Amino acid sequence: MTTEKGRAKARKNLRELSQLMPPSHPVRIIFADLGKDDIGECYLLDEGKTEARFIIRIGREVNDELITSILVHEFAHVCSWYWEECHHGPAFGIATARAWSLWADGGE
Ligand SMILES: [Zn+2]
Repeated sequence: MTTEKGRAKARKNLRELSQLMPPSHPVRIIFADLGKDDIGECYLLDEGKTEARFIIRIGREVNDELITSILVHEFAHVCSWYWEECHHGPAFGIATARAWSLWADGGE
């Protein structure tokens, strides 16, 4: 179960990731009931419009320790969204590696 502390940390991490790798549209995190088979997802709303935005949904039931991993994974989808058709292709992999560099020097 996510806690308020875990959700606040995720929002802070999203701000830092967005500074490191500015997304093509604003990104929002929503904690939602995704059912037991899904822990995270990412989609683009209002594509082609000026108010286009990415929504990252993270399962409300996941543990706080898992939130960062899910956030990095979904944020890498945001970064590679326009770069490849393949869901988890090379651009996704590079974005994932770059995102984790945020914590490479001893961050939380
Ligand atoms: Zn994925």
